[in-house]
Amino acid sequence: MQSNQEQLEKLNAKMLACSKCVLRSSCSRVVPGAGSATAEIMFIGEAPGKKEDELGVPFVGAAGKFLNEMLASIKLKREDVYIANTVKCRPPENRDPSEEEKDTCWPWLLEQLKIIQPKLIITLGRHSMERFLSDVKISEVHGTLVIKTIPGIGRQNFYTLYHPAAALYNGGMRQTLLDDFQKIPKVLKKIK
Ligand code: URA
Repeated sequence: MQSNQEQLEKLNAKMLACSKCVLRSSCSRVVPGAGSATAEIMFIGEAPGKKEDELGVPFVGAAGKFLNEMLASIKLKREDVYIANTVKCRPPENRDPSEEEKDTCWPWLLEQLKIIQPKLIITLGRHSMERFLSDVKISEVHGTLVIKTIPGIGRQNFYTLYHPAAALYNGGMRQTLLDDFQKIPKVLKKIK
């Protein structure tokens, strides 16, 4: 039986060789994800940006710095959680990934979830949320636990946050994100 780490490494190698959608032709490299293969919490953002594309690691730009600070505020390090995106390649000029691109990349995210089996999936931003919870509004569900069955991975616990990049320079949204983030340990405890 392979460890989660070994399974993730194999999956990452496959992702690095993927060119199933047009994004791979314009990005520098695939950004599979980073963190603990046995994480209880998995964060899912939208798509790699410029810095992530340069380094091959998710959330390493300004939004990533903010995410690190919020993690530290609840006594977590990046190494304690897993961080990935709905698409693994940077869209040109940081445009939103298309539905087709997100659909094409979806099986990679499902495989990551099957291996890691996080107790709590935290979506960052509306685009990530909509991959799992298509019938809700982020303004209504942010900061609340939503339980939903997803084909392929079964019953999952979701917690929706505003995207750190959107909240970074928007005072009201920033405070909401900070407040929602502080509730994560309690939500995790409740699930367990
Ligand atoms: N924004 C995202 O959604 N993902 C990243 O990896 C970086 C910024």
